[in-house]
Amino acid sequence: HLSQRLAIVASYVPQGARLADIGTDHAYLPVNLAKNGVIVGGVAGEVVPGPFKNAEHEINREGLSDLITARLANGLQAIEPADHIDTVAIAGMGGALITQILTQDFDRLAGVSRLVLQPNVGEMTVRRFLMTHGFQLVAEQIVAEDGHTYEILVADRKAVPEQYDEETLRFGPYLLAEHNDIFIAKWQRELARTSEVLRQVESAHEVPAAKVTELQTKIQQIKEVLQRVG
Ligand code: SAM
Repeated sequence: HLSQRLAIVASYVPQGARLADIGTDHAYLPVNLAKNGVIVGGVAGEVVPGPFKNAEHEINREGLSDLITARLANGLQAIEPADHIDTVAIAGMGGALITQILTQDFDRLAGVSRLVLQPNVGEMTVRRFLMTHGFQLVAEQIVAEDGHTYEILVADRKAVPEQYDEETLRFGPYLLAEHNDIFIAKWQRELARTSEVLRQVESAHEVPAAKVTELQTKIQQIKEVLQRVG
């Protein structure tokens, strides 16, 4: 049984996929997808020994070691050419870390046509990465669970992805168009939080001008969007 967050990630893994789940922890995602007959093979990658052991244990317990291989490796180094991976999932980390993992060993994505990413924060960084690295966003979801709001970003390989402006990169093209209650609540909270950060920065002794401008721009963008859709 997956959390709602991971269930949404799972729903974007194509039937018959060969999946690499990077930062898999307990390998719940690939195990669920293999049990449901969605994936025909895959890799569960972990860089930390404890979670790697969790993944191995879970895969063996479910009798899925023929289908899923647990690998102790940093990021995409868990993927080997013989795996024929076509789909990569990375969930439950910050957007900066997800982007770093994808950038670091980008060549390992050679056979990959779909990315399913779930950054806990820093979604804008991930969208910018996709746009500049030949991946087109094809779907976005936002979900509230256990007092957190999570975004799920789905992208397919495309030679020339659509180029988004700063506002679209921040809010997400699909989430902005849909602007559901979870989206509006998230950005109301984000507006309050960012305004508080700006107050603190402005009351500091040495004010970094670039930081102030960045925060002001963000606040202005959120206000504009909320006025338009809220
Ligand atoms: N993906 C699962 C989920 O969404 O529920 C687990 C998320 S857990 C919060 C993040 C996992 O990513 C941790 O187990 C951590 O060890 C792993 N991780 C962090 N950096 C990594 C990297 N560079 N390569 C592989 N795994 C990494």
